[in-house]
Amino acid sequence: MQFTNLTRANEIGANSYHVQAGDRGFLLDSGTHPKMDGNAALPHLGLLSSKPLDAILLSHSHLDHLGSMPVVMSDHPETRAYMTYGTSLIADRALHNSASVMSKQRNELHLPEYPFFTHGQVDHVTDRFEVVPCAREFELGGSKISFHEAGHVQGAAGIWIESGGHSLFYTGDVRFADMMITRGAQFPEKRPDTMVIECTRGATPAGNSWDHEVNRLAQSIIETYARGGSVLIPCFALGKTQEALKIIHDLIKERVLPDQMLYIGGLASTYNEIYDELANRVPRVCNGFKLENNLNLMVLERKDALKMKIGRGRLLLVSSGMMTPRTMSHLMTQRMAPDERHSIFFIGYVDPASPAGKVKAAGQGGRADLGGDAGEVDLKCRVDNFNFSSHCERNDMMEYVCKVRPRNVLLVHGEAASLEWFRNELSQKLPESKIIIPPSGETIEL
Ligand SMILES: [Zn+2]
Repeated sequence: MQFTNLTRANEIGANSYHVQAGDRGFLLDSGTHPKMDGNAALPHLGLLSSKPLDAILLSHSHLDHLGSMPVVMSDHPETRAYMTYGTSLIADRALHNSASVMSKQRNELHLPEYPFFTHGQVDHVTDRFEVVPCAREFELGGSKISFHEAGHVQGAAGIWIESGGHSLFYTGDVRFADMMITRGAQFPEKRPDTMVIECTRGATPAGNSWDHEVNRLAQSIIETYARGGSVLIPCFALGKTQEALKIIHDLIKERVLPDQMLYIGGLASTYNEIYDELANRVPRVCNGFKLENNLNLMVLERKDALKMKIGRGRLLLVSSGMMTPRTMSHLMTQRMAPDERHSIFFIGYVDPASPAGKVKAAGQGGRADLGGDAGEVDLKCRVDNFNFSSHCERNDMMEYVCKVRPRNVLLVHGEAASLEWFRNELSQKLPESKIIIPPSGETIEL
């Protein structure tokens, strides 16, 4: 079996990996880089021209795994994409949203290559989606494939491929512990010849437990209200918002927080509907629970956000998680940061180079450059960070890999320090195994 890393660098970028066994070829994910624009955001798709491509296997619907799939599919008009039901629903919405965003950015960012695809092309792509159940093997041109729940976000799956006498398991993005809605990974416990693991949290020692962080968040919100302020939680529209809303829901039910209206973004509301549609369709921590029925939600429009009074006791969960310029969290940070009564709480990974990363690093009393038209702002408000990652703690990943003892472990989806941590630990714990960081653009013989 051959493995080619199509991601442009060893990092959390535009994830895409090609696997070949004999004359069979599979593409594991086809993402776009979250920090890049235009052609630089694409994986090395040119390398596919010399390789067989029988199918695309999609682990989940975050754009760093999905965003360039329509580009691949327009070059390979016969190819179909396999994924879970949850991923198929979300991917449809995520790709249409991406087409709209790129159409806007074409002029704003002077990128003539945008949009990579139109809404019409997305419809052709979704027509070629094949929905597969979890934990059930199916045949694809003589190869055996199965998808296995990966936690992380609704629909996410690790992917097992057995082809030409070699087995490979790709974890995709994974969380082993339950969250509020999405249950933890249900991965196979058999030994693959090769395992490809995500390394997001390799450089991060274990943080506070989920329950501890729920209590700390509740206390921090109550304190903010008590001093007459409001709370801004910048979060990704997909996954993070829904899990956070369930945390808030439970705190309201337990009467820890007042029963109140919660402000969210329009895209988050779209994903809420999909989460609700899945409520009785897939096994979850809270089967049947529907966000839209159980919470008092208000979509915050830009014009309202500009003029709304931000006094005491408002709670806003708006995107983007990175406070990217022109998003609602970027706008509300400009309004709330100069007032010491308010709070800004981060609830997941933020890129240190993003405006959110700068606010987090500067903290209360500091100054942060928000980029765009905003420039530098004084952070008089409270700034805090809570550990609600949708990626597994590094020790949980170590435990899983050491239990199944693959012959080869390929390390992907991590910054340099994270990849190195896993390489060192696994080299010690699994001396018989080959631990490999697959170089960008190169083909490895397994
Ligand atoms: Zn993801």
